[in-house]
Amino acid sequence: MPYCRNCGGELFENSTVCPRCAAPRGTGVNFCPNCGKPTGPAMVMCPQCQTTFENIDPSMGTPSPKSKTAAGLLGIFLGAFGVHNFYLGYTAKAVIQLVITLLTCCMCSPIAGIWGLVEGILILCGNISVDGKGYPLCD
Ligand SMILES: [Zn+2]
Ligand SMILES: [Zn+2]
Repeated sequence: MPYCRNCGGELFENSTVCPRCAAPRGTGVNFCPNCGKPTGPAMVMCPQCQTTFENIDPSMGTPSPKSKTAAGLLGIFLGAFGVHNFYLGYTAKAVIQLVITLLTCCMCSPIAGIWGLVEGILILCGNISVDGKGYPLCD
């Protein structure tokens, strides 16, 4: 169970904002996101569970939201290379798409390309609405 970094409350696995204090997930400096132990603003690692984290001030809001339109178009035109997933921070998926295309000397690039195309459309339609860190996309 992840914890809110701002108030220490428990979050659902898929929640993007804290149900208690409404801070976007991952923002705040007060609590460990993994075990919920209190942390300080200068800490980058939890003394309890050794989880490392970034300190994001909740008053700064979500750091530079990714563009839905840009990600969708990247998926449609460059999906075979996983560019849209690199952009959104879905690195593992992006590497798989890139590897499929490169390892088969582009012979399987239509497969990765169609995969990317479908994801691009899903992004534009709002079916994929968060980036790899769970932050909502902007238009
Ligand atoms: Zn909270
Ligand atoms: Zn911890």
